[in-house]
Amino acid sequence: MTKQVSKRIVLYFTKETWDKPIVCRLAKDFDLVFNILKAQVLPRQESYMVMELSGTQTNYRKGIRYLKEWGIKVRDVEKDIRRQDELCYHCGACISICPTQALAMNRETMEIYFDQKRCSGCGLCMPICPSRAMQTALA
Ligand code: SF4
Ligand code: SF4
Repeated sequence: MTKQVSKRIVLYFTKETWDKPIVCRLAKDFDLVFNILKAQVLPRQESYMVMELSGTQTNYRKGIRYLKEWGIKVRDVEKDIRRQDELCYHCGACISICPTQALAMNRETMEIYFDQKRCSGCGLCMPICPSRAMQTALA
């Protein structure tokens, strides 16, 4: 049976590629399904897009290779959002906004922990964190 893959990834576009119809060819040429979760596309500037990309493992690899051939950087979402622990003072403001419970309270220590594997990369926690402890490589 053909192995299926589904991953959340971030694409970083350069000033030269921001306006190219590259992403739509993932479906057309590689039979991949993409669901754009978030994007910031600014004319003639570096831009990014967060998406869920699914398909057979072979097509997925070909699709990623195709993106890289265009000079687009591809990263797994869970590697992108991080918490700078020394800035977090465990106020708890982020836990109610996090849709995946990647940010949650340890009831024993009353501290807020960040489980990167659960993170969808939605970025909702970033503006709400008073100390800017939640960060992304995109910032
Ligand atoms: S909002 Fe920021 S400072 Fe407060 S618990 Fe969350 S990550 Fe820590
Ligand atoms: S980016 Fe979204 S899913 Fe990840 S920790 Fe922040 S609010 Fe939760």
